[in-house]
Amino acid sequence: AKNAGGSTYAFFTPELRVAAERHQDIRMRLADALEQGRIEVKYQPIINLASGKIGRCEALVRWTDPELGVVRPDEFIEIAEHSGLIQQLGYQVVKQALSDIYQINSALREPIGVAINRSPQEFMDLSETGDYLDELAMKAGVAPELVTIELTESLMMKDPKLAERQLNLLKADGFRLSLDDFGTGYSSLAYLKHFPFDVLKVDRSFVSDIASDKDDYLLVKTILEMGSNLGMHSVAEGVETAEQLALVTELGCECVQGYFFSPPISRDELLNYIGTQFPE
Ligand code: C2E
Ligand code: CA
Ligand code: CA
Ligand code: CA
Repeated sequence: AKNAGGSTYAFFTPELRVAAERHQDIRMRLADALEQGRIEVKYQPIINLASGKIGRCEALVRWTDPELGVVRPDEFIEIAEHSGLIQQLGYQVVKQALSDIYQINSALREPIGVAINRSPQEFMDLSETGDYLDELAMKAGVAPELVTIELTESLMMKDPKLAERQLNLLKADGFRLSLDDFGTGYSSLAYLKHFPFDVLKVDRSFVSDIASDKDDYLLVKTILEMGSNLGMHSVAEGVETAEQLALVTELGCECVQGYFFSPPISRDELLNYIGTQFPE
């Protein structure tokens, strides 16, 4: 709401005040939660369509605050990024995810992988990211080949040279790289071929209307063809219906994840899911 007097700045509308207070609350309580190790990680199965089995899972951070209730990652990740908490948050997620995947794999005959999201800020900070991942993976007893790092396009354009260097460091350590939310950002196709991504993730926004919207169908088709031409693996996210599954399968997508198979679940639920859905 702007001032009736024509001024374009009205600093504290009630809406702004509420938003600012919420922002402040989240920042303070998140710092506490990190301090006390109250951040949780859930895992969403990623199904390989050729084998019909779960090949890996995506680690997704979860936070329930005693006062604020459930706070969604979309909300608190951004606040963490702007308040310097993202490094600590990222570190805790990586540690938890590695420890959980180790435990999961010690109960399985064939190991599964884990995909971990990294925020651009976190990723571009060379001193932090470059080295602790391989160290933590080694300590946790998890082979880097089992660990996929998911990154969004947004960071590529900010500093493509640095991004390329960072990506190559991770590759050199043996990690897999996945380009998240593909098609929703600003990255240039010319850069895409320079970056050593192994996996291209088709964004949920394209998958959700694939059955009803011819344009989205064609977009997914084009994205998958391009990925395959560049030698990349593919994952379609947000598959909720049998129809969507049939369409992405028909278009040659390799892996899928979404509520059709399972929402993100705890480590123990995932073990149970693997046991019941894919008995050995
Ligand atoms: P994302 O990486 O694109 O993750 C996929 C999101 O889609 C997740 O939301 C997941 O729960 C949701 N999803 C999966 N399948 C379906 C489906 O079939 N239908 C619908 N409607 N949704 C589905 P979530 O967990 O709320 O995470 C939101 C975003 O927050 C993520 O988007 C990611 O960008 C970020 N995020 C989550 N965990 C982390 C983390 O540990 N670190 C960082 N840096 N970012 C994270
Ligand atoms: Ca992701
Ligand atoms: Ca290293
Ligand atoms: Ca996405």
